[in-house]
Amino acid sequence: MGNLEVRFWGVRGSVPTPHEPNMEHGGNTPCIEVRLGGGTPLIFDAGTGIRCLGRKLLDGVPPGGNHKAHLFLTHFHWDHIQGLPFFDPLYRADYFIHVWSSLEVDLLQSTLERQMSRPYFPIDLTEPPRRPDYTVAPAEGAEVEGIRVEPFPLHHPGGSTGYRLSAGGARIVYATDHEPGNEECDRRLLQMADGADLLIIDSQYLPEEYPSRRGWGHGTWLASTEMAKRAGVKQLVLFHHDPARDDEAVEDLLRMARGEFTNTMAAREGWSGQL
Ligand SMILES: [Zn+2]
Ligand SMILES: [Zn+2]
Repeated sequence: MGNLEVRFWGVRGSVPTPHEPNMEHGGNTPCIEVRLGGGTPLIFDAGTGIRCLGRKLLDGVPPGGNHKAHLFLTHFHWDHIQGLPFFDPLYRADYFIHVWSSLEVDLLQSTLERQMSRPYFPIDLTEPPRRPDYTVAPAEGAEVEGIRVEPFPLHHPGGSTGYRLSAGGARIVYATDHEPGNEECDRRLLQMADGADLLIIDSQYLPEEYPSRRGWGHGTWLASTEMAKRAGVKQLVLFHHDPARDDEAVEDLLRMARGEFTNTMAAREGWSGQL
């Protein structure tokens, strides 16, 4: 095993829900940190969870030096980018942020610059010292800080990108904002998830809720347990909790999912693990 560390900073779907009945699983929108052996962080999504991650990255780090972080975006719905303007390392000249996505570079850059500009935000992304650089995550995969990162397409309005991360025999698959039912995307996801140690997957809905939410781009816990069984993953993580589902309801959903696939957990802000 390769000593891959993973930590959840935001696990909530669609909109932040920072109120008391949700706080056990957390109210921040998606953000996951992955590192190999304590190395440079790879961050997946910039939901509001990235704010606390940014504070941790700078904790006790005096200005100066040469730091970096990689940010991989799945797509550009607000819940996956709305934390970026509050990511403190962006405001430090000694911190380089490498942003990756499946979009071509010009489109990636203009999309992020549009959200972080007036009248939406008082500070422009283009003003120094902010100088992120932008890269297309190559379809064939890339080696980033010792971790092999392979993007693949998910089925979601406007598209979303899943990522498989491998290092030293350990494998994590992050597949949020995916609606099962597209044959090509499901086949590819199954292939990427095959034998994964950790499958983190969109499980926003109950099967009985799904008919009225068809086409919204999300999955059910039942579809997730079926994928976990077919792919033979070691641990399933239900992710992108519905904003209307409080902790008690998430636990109910988890109980049903465990009835289908024992090694299932519901993503929880602050959880970390090592593979
Ligand atoms: Zn989302
Ligand atoms: Zn989305």
